[in-house]
Amino acid sequence: MKTIIEPFRIKSVEPIRMTTRSEREAILKTARYNLFSVPADDVLIDLLTDSGTGAMSAEQWAGVMRGDESYAGSRSFERFQATVQELTGMPHVLPTHQGRAAEKILFALVGGPGKLIPNNTHFDTTRANIEYTGATASDCLIPEGKIPSVPYPFKGNMDVAALVDAIKAHGPENVPLCMLTVTNNSSGGQPVSMANIQAVKAALAPFGIPLYLDCCRFAENAYFIQQREPGYADRTVKSIAQEMFSYADGALMSAKKDGLANIGGFLSLRADTLVEQARQLLILTEGFPTYGGLAGRDLEAIAQGLTEVVEEDYLRYRIRSVAYLGEAISKAGVPIIQPPGGHAVYIDAGAMLAHLQPQTFPGQSLACELYLEAGVRSCEIGSVMFGKQGPDGRSSLAPMELVRLAIPRRVYTQSHIDYLAEAIIQVYDRRHELVGYRIVAQPQFLRHFTAAFEPMTGVSR
Ligand SMILES: *Cc1c(COP(=O)(O)O)cnc(C)c1O
Repeated sequence: MKTIIEPFRIKSVEPIRMTTRSEREAILKTARYNLFSVPADDVLIDLLTDSGTGAMSAEQWAGVMRGDESYAGSRSFERFQATVQELTGMPHVLPTHQGRAAEKILFALVGGPGKLIPNNTHFDTTRANIEYTGATASDCLIPEGKIPSVPYPFKGNMDVAALVDAIKAHGPENVPLCMLTVTNNSSGGQPVSMANIQAVKAALAPFGIPLYLDCCRFAENAYFIQQREPGYADRTVKSIAQEMFSYADGALMSAKKDGLANIGGFLSLRADTLVEQARQLLILTEGFPTYGGLAGRDLEAIAQGLTEVVEEDYLRYRIRSVAYLGEAISKAGVPIIQPPGGHAVYIDAGAMLAHLQPQTFPGQSLACELYLEAGVRSCEIGSVMFGKQGPDGRSSLAPMELVRLAIPRRVYTQSHIDYLAEAIIQVYDRRHELVGYRIVAQPQFLRHFTAAFEPMTGVSR
């Protein structure tokens, strides 16, 4: 059989409210051309993020009803803890309300001025939590990972030589730990190979530096290893994931991704060293160690989600539907990060809208047009998100002008994906008509969430 079907039936549906282009023009104008300000009810297909937006299974909802809400020692915590321990092989499990809460606790303990935390590519909250302590966050991505059009099976890999140079330059005593983000979200949802995890571990060993996985998408990463890395084709995804964790001394997780849950996270630790201090901080900021920042029902949903996410039929459908979208639009000429990542397709808006200067935000232009054309909400990842306004009023630019189409888990069917591909290709075919945007109001920090824009219609571009 050639067709890969969604490996689930739909038991509960959420209606999508259809809108016309002229309705969407009014909605977008009211939102001042910022898609974060568009009400979700006015979106047909929402690809803003894959975080916390997945559909839970019947078993997860049953778990919600079974949730034990006891303050201490709840049965739901025991199930959650046992699931995470079996997966990671790490004895200590601290539940948190999100991934960033685990980051906050870890870096409060090991960060601080003068410290360096290397990663393949830091996710933005990870970087922010490190920098908040006064430490430096550095990215050591392989060169292949930085060129959108170059396909490479493990574009998320760490550049091990660059890592060792960074450690030596900074002094190993100032590097409390090294991270690896699997899959590498900020570099296009690209996977990290097992060989690379092993090489990083081996490079750290002489310095005695522990390795931590930012494991939000560990199952998608393990599936890519099974599909692409020699020697892993006959292994189960679960055993590959367990091997990935076996090289790590700790792990940070956002259960809103491969936990298949709407909220949650955890910090796992192998050694006893940091555990007591981490628990103290957990109690201060999240809650008692057997619930962290979560309700018992959330712990149940995550425990069940972590067992469903490594099912191979699910992962085959998941990874295939993202790749199918990427292939459909790139066959029509749309430039994307190649190959498509695990959770998202990234359109290279800078290349697609080459007639627009980066200063006029081609990613914002494309994201707005996809909304107007088809009610699709995507996310600009370019100079709106990363550029900063200097004292002279001019903005710095991002290295790439991308638009991310993040696919929620188990939410959309193949016809939704076909509709998306059609819409993107229609916009691509008349790409020369798209105009640039200017920012008319912006806050000092994280401007992409709240800035207001205006299309540069009738103005020379
Ligand atoms: C989402 C994410 C985080 C943060 O998790 P939250 O649950 O959103 O706080 C950290 N790292 C990576 C790679 C992520 O994708």
